[in-house]
Amino acid sequence: MDFQEEEHITMLRDMIRKFVAKEVTSEMVAAWDEADQIPREMLVRIGELGLCGLTFGEEHGGFGRDIVAMTVAIEELAKPMMSLAGLYISAVCYGGMNIEASGSAAQKAEILPKVTEGKMCFAYGLSEPNVGADLPSVETRGELIGDKVIINGAKRWCSSADMADLIFVLLKSDPEGPRYNNLSFVLVPPNAKGVTTQRVKTMGSNGNGTCDVHFDNVEVPAENILGGPEFWNRGWEQLAGPALEAEKLEVPALALGVAEAAMTEAWQYAEEREQFGQKIGKFQSIRHMLADGKTKLQAARLMLYWCADLIANERPSAAESSMTKMFVTETCKEVVLTCQTVMGAYGYAEGFGMERYVRDILATTIFGGSTAIQLNNIANRYRLAKG
Ligand SMILES: Cc1cc2nc3c(=O)[nH]c(=O)nc-3n(C[C@H](O)[C@H](O)[C@H](O)COP(=O)(O)OP(=O)(O)OC[C@H]3O[C@@H](n4cnc5c(N)ncnc54)[C@H](O)[C@@H]3O)c2cc1C
Repeated sequence: MDFQEEEHITMLRDMIRKFVAKEVTSEMVAAWDEADQIPREMLVRIGELGLCGLTFGEEHGGFGRDIVAMTVAIEELAKPMMSLAGLYISAVCYGGMNIEASGSAAQKAEILPKVTEGKMCFAYGLSEPNVGADLPSVETRGELIGDKVIINGAKRWCSSADMADLIFVLLKSDPEGPRYNNLSFVLVPPNAKGVTTQRVKTMGSNGNGTCDVHFDNVEVPAENILGGPEFWNRGWEQLAGPALEAEKLEVPALALGVAEAAMTEAWQYAEEREQFGQKIGKFQSIRHMLADGKTKLQAARLMLYWCADLIANERPSAAESSMTKMFVTETCKEVVLTCQTVMGAYGYAEGFGMERYVRDILATTIFGGSTAIQLNNIANRYRLAKG
């Protein structure tokens, strides 16, 4: 068992840290947070660093699938701002990884080289006004008529839908068909006729603005079915396929980056702030909070990279990835709230990173499969009898 980070991974981490230190200022982050928008140019800059080709093979214009490197990139990009890493995920995971796993030859040839350059980003249209965790019950309807798909319905919480090039839309494609075999994924450009997007404000995750998306008789070619027309009614296997395991690493990697940033800020604050004639970091209660938080972050980090290693080596990971999603996000949420406590009122005020870390971390136990859903998954995988 070797817990040492490989040299190329440490070099990658250092490169991203230098990039962030030089090119992402706190003023920029505050402006992106306020506007709920990150300029697309940032993705191009990240592409120039060579980070966008990390999830798919050289034969498709990538740099080879390196799941540990992808996880490091998400963690490091999330430190200055969770949504910067969210933008990266929308390109390399939603786009790169899914298109390589499930796309047709034409979709791979068209899309993947642009992903590598940071010139395409994507949105995931799964959730709906009436459908959250129970995704097989989606109501958005798709009809395959000749060589066209006609779409009617609505998606909700669709992050970055209004800035994406394509939305992966999960459709009910055969309402009379058997559950799980009656769904399809279709790639829909947000500027297609009949698509309207409207921002829905959430308390955090700013920069990846969540949208309501309406589809009113939207027509796209059948080639836009993920994998091509032969994959009609096979959307569930594409959603629950190999890319899903790696996707369960994305949100915990975001959470770890945010919690590490919160710890850095709280630690520094404890060393500077004085009360009762001494630095607050000298009070035992503050020392214990920070020491306890650091320990929990170390446990979360070990679990995240253990799981990344399992997935990278294609070892069984269905229960392990749910454990990782659940444990890392819940632990990081606890640590961020502890860090906020260390900073007193300054942890609640605008102008410090902390209030944004708190807003952002709270989303991580909800999206990407809530904590309850991960716990269900773990109990099911270990065949615990259901009530
Ligand atoms: C900031 C943000 C960004 C998002 N971005 C996207 C996006 O880009 N694309 C997208 O498709 N969605 C997105 N979502 C939606 C997200 O994936 C859903 O919120 C999530 O799947 C949960 O669905 P829900 O909120 O409707 O909750 P529900 O499914 O209605 O669940 C409500 C509560 O019941 C619990 N629950 C539900 N079912 C069970 C069960 N079987 N057993 C035990 N407990 C259960 C849940 O854990 C939760 O606590 C985003 C959400 C947020 C907050």
